[in-house]
Amino acid sequence: MDTAILDRSIPDLAALVHRGEVSAEEVARAALARIEQRDGALGAFLTVQGEQSIDAARALDARRARGEALGPLAGVPIGLKDALCTEGAPTTAGSKILTRAAAGGSCGSSNAPDPARGYRPPYDATVVARLRAAGAILPGKCNMDEFAMGSSNENSAFGPVKNPWDLTRIPGGSSGGSAVAVAAGMTPGSLGSDTGGSIRQPASLTGVVGVKPTYGRVSRYGLIAFASSLDQIGPFAQDVRGAARLLEVISGRDPRDATSLDAPVGEYEAACGRDVAGLRIGVPEEYFAKGIDRQVEAKVREAIEGLRGLGCEIRPVHLPHTRYAVAAYYIVATAEASSNLARFDGVRFGLRVEGERGGKADLQGLYGATRGEGFGREVKRRILLGTYVLSAGYYDAYYLRAQKVRTLIRRDFDEAFREVDVIAAPVSPTVAFRLGERVDDPLSMYLADVYTLPASMAGLPAISVPCATAPAPDGGPPLPVGLQLIGPALEEARLFRAAHAWEQISPVRGLRAPVA
Ligand code: GLN
Repeated sequence: MDTAILDRSIPDLAALVHRGEVSAEEVARAALARIEQRDGALGAFLTVQGEQSIDAARALDARRARGEALGPLAGVPIGLKDALCTEGAPTTAGSKILTRAAAGGSCGSSNAPDPARGYRPPYDATVVARLRAAGAILPGKCNMDEFAMGSSNENSAFGPVKNPWDLTRIPGGSSGGSAVAVAAGMTPGSLGSDTGGSIRQPASLTGVVGVKPTYGRVSRYGLIAFASSLDQIGPFAQDVRGAARLLEVISGRDPRDATSLDAPVGEYEAACGRDVAGLRIGVPEEYFAKGIDRQVEAKVREAIEGLRGLGCEIRPVHLPHTRYAVAAYYIVATAEASSNLARFDGVRFGLRVEGERGGKADLQGLYGATRGEGFGREVKRRILLGTYVLSAGYYDAYYLRAQKVRTLIRRDFDEAFREVDVIAAPVSPTVAFRLGERVDDPLSMYLADVYTLPASMAGLPAISVPCATAPAPDGGPPLPVGLQLIGPALEEARLFRAAHAWEQISPVRGLRAPVA
């Protein structure tokens, strides 16, 4: 089967379907064929909804035949991070605790957990409903770090995702599967969630575009929560315009999420192609401090020079509280996670492991056995940490103080945005590292997020756009590097404008991961 149609950008693909030059069914079949061909080596998809997506595509083709209007994503296959609820289809958040034990499997059995036995939500997340209404085809659910906790996708209960640029390396996390679905051409777009970098970092490490919108821009209804004051859903795409179209579809007020904002949705796609001459771009020197790989630094600085060449004004800015972001984030996020994850108790969802305490089976025993068996190491570490920082006697010293630091970080950005329109920075201090390299060193894993956490703490929109490839310090093929652009709240359109302008002159424009 010729699957090259999937290499078209999202707007092109939708236009072809609108004009009837290709049927939605052909596109859906191409996506399923590519997943079948390519994903065995990559592990980006946990479950594939083959029949349902063919049915949805046929229904779309029938609507076209009747002359009905099709939406802006007509026939476009979009991968979904498995933290997004899909009605009747398995949803695991990368965790064993959201799967049922295999029939006959006894308590504590060592059977590998099966994502196909995942929790089946009775409803669609708002973003999923919006994608369907826009005509998107949803071929499957993407692998992720368990409950979105991680930076390498190695914390998935269902195994890691491999980076298509080098199969011995991580794709980034936690939305690693969503990033690779796009990077390896299996779906032209996907959705992930970003709490502290989980869209931008994997986008950067796999050479695709990824956007974390302003906190509240996109409804979180139906997103399995990690840290509710930080979580945001956003798009991945092969190019900036595709990401803009996707974000336009999923954005906007939702009465089911009280934190979703009422502000009008910007014209993100129309912003692509607008001139950037005179745009003031701030470069925070704190983001080029020790710890950044020399090659990555050089490439990001070259990209910033490219923006200067387009007529942007480049200025230094200061974000002095940047160095506290990792510490403060890992207090706030773990505190919220410990509370959000209390609901997984063996009674309501997924896994249930009967347990005993003091020799007799009781409720505490059930909770302990289910959570002990169902959660992975990193999730347990965070629940412990989060429970600790919230406990009486430590709350003021840790949680309250971290909230104050969060305010200081936000003020740094407020100050900077008095002087500049956009901030340009690296996304990740290094290119993709090797699988296994950091699994036993949580701190070095947490440091992968130094440049993405501050915008998350401040609730600001940020985009990662491919800017180069660079050799890894430990050898192997060249690997993608992303440029991060951060904007003031609700200024996504400005980010799309700048990122699109950069993309047109990028040395890696149109460069795709080598795929088998
Ligand atoms: N890597 C960060 C963490 O593990 C961010 C994750 C995310 O954005 N979901 O918390």
